[in-house]
Parts: sequence; C-alpha cells; structure tokens
Amino acid sequence: MLKYLVWHKCAYCGAEFRGSPKRRFCSPTCRRRFRSGVAVRKRLQTDPEFKRRSLERLQRWKEMHGCKKKGEKAEEGKRRVIL
Ligand SMILES: [Zn+2]
Repeated sequence: MLKYLVWHKCAYCGAEFRGSPKRRFCSPTCRRRFRSGVAVRKRLQTDPEFKRRSLERLQRWKEMHGCKKKGEKAEEGKRRVIL
C-alpha cells in the first residue's frame, strides 16, 4: 500500500505532497482552480466570440470603475462648496 504513495508537486500551487501516482494536486481546491483556469484559457484561444465578450466585459468594468472614481471626486467638490 505504502509503495503506491509517491511524492508529487502540486500542478497549481507547487506544494509537495505524498499521494497516489494518479494525483496531480495537493487538494480538491487546487484541482478545481487549475481546471477552471485551464478551461478559460483554452476557450479564450479557441472561441473568438468568448474572447471578444470577455474583453468587452473587462472594458465595461474599467469604464464603470473610472466613472465611480470621477463621481466620488465630484461629490468631494460639492461637499467643499457646501462647507
Ligand atoms: Zn496545491
């Protein structure tokens, strides 16, 4: 039984652990994170529509973030006027 336990390096976080030769990850969390990352990267490479939508979403988020900051600054200005 013990001879089937071998040392591995986790493919996601790089931690060393002992387990069955089939295991590649130190924990189910690492496996899930690694798998989801691989799936997204694969889809970005093979699916142009998905890539376009991802970039659009990122752009929208950036714009939203910028607007929020500008809004905060504007409120600050108003407050200064009131004081
Ligand atoms: Zn890990």
